[in-house]
Amino acid sequence: MPHGEGGAGCAVLVVGSIALDSVQTPFGSAQEVLGGAAVFSAAAASFFAPVRMVGVVGSDFPREHLERLQQWDIDISGVEAREGDTFRWSGYYEYDMNQAHTVSTRLNVFEDFRPELSDAHRRTPYVFLANIDPELQLTVLEQMERPQLAVCDTMNFWISGKRDELEQVLGRVDLALMNDAEARQFCDTPNLVQAARGILDLGPRAVVLKKGEHGAAMFTREDHFAAPGYPLEAIKDPTGAGDSFAGGMIGYLAYTNDFSDENLRKAIVCGSVLASFDVEDFSLERLARLTPDEIVARYREFRAITDFGEI
Ligand code: AMP
Repeated sequence: MPHGEGGAGCAVLVVGSIALDSVQTPFGSAQEVLGGAAVFSAAAASFFAPVRMVGVVGSDFPREHLERLQQWDIDISGVEAREGDTFRWSGYYEYDMNQAHTVSTRLNVFEDFRPELSDAHRRTPYVFLANIDPELQLTVLEQMERPQLAVCDTMNFWISGKRDELEQVLGRVDLALMNDAEARQFCDTPNLVQAARGILDLGPRAVVLKKGEHGAAMFTREDHFAAPGYPLEAIKDPTGAGDSFAGGMIGYLAYTNDFSDENLRKAIVCGSVLASFDVEDFSLERLARLTPDEIVARYREFRAITDFGEI
């Protein structure tokens, strides 16, 4: 499993934003630091499996960030460097850290991003479509050669702005991720179980609803599973928690190459473990110093805190 030895499993292709983030939380701030949905998810997945990243950066993107991705053995040959500025997101969190408040989103070179996959990338067995325009998610799926597992994420902006395209994506992926508020919005119901059913009806085999610090719930047609959030005493910056969750989950699935309900449960806990580490520091700082032993230890803690024996 460990970082740097992620060659054991099937490869994962990650497509999404690569960003310079400026973030303020009640516990500090960070300016123009490495971020983006593709970066957090690729970093998290790289603990388990070889990762190939597809995205775009501008001419201002610091070299050291690319070097850091390479140090994690992430294949960045699919990262296009364009003349212009890198995508920038800035936001803040108040005491309710489940809620990110966006101050500004500057798409910059991301605005004209049209993912073009190389032959090798088209044949990647696992693909994670991070939060990007569902039209682009569809173009990626069209270029892929029958992936074994396709997973997508999305956000409220696309639910209201590109619903038809998003429904088409959901009809073509195996596993869909949304946060709880997005699922309620998408299915126009306050009830999360009904929302999950509504998403499953569009085609995915499983839907995972992320509930921030309260954990995550998985629904298939036959099964239901819930993982709690890890009871952390110190959360510095929740940015990237959802993406680290997705990366940890798909990374573990690729590592084991097993898509049974039982293994999905383990993957969801791996996602929760990676997310719980991500939020302990700003940007990618905590993931950068994370060790495989820490991942295994926290996985076991998750088991311990959810084991309540027989009545
Ligand atoms: P998360 O906290 O996991 O939901 O995702 C946070 C990351 O998403 C940040 O690093 C941002 O750079 C990135 N992000 C924010 N808004 C967008 C957007 N509209 N499209 C793509 N990525 C975004």
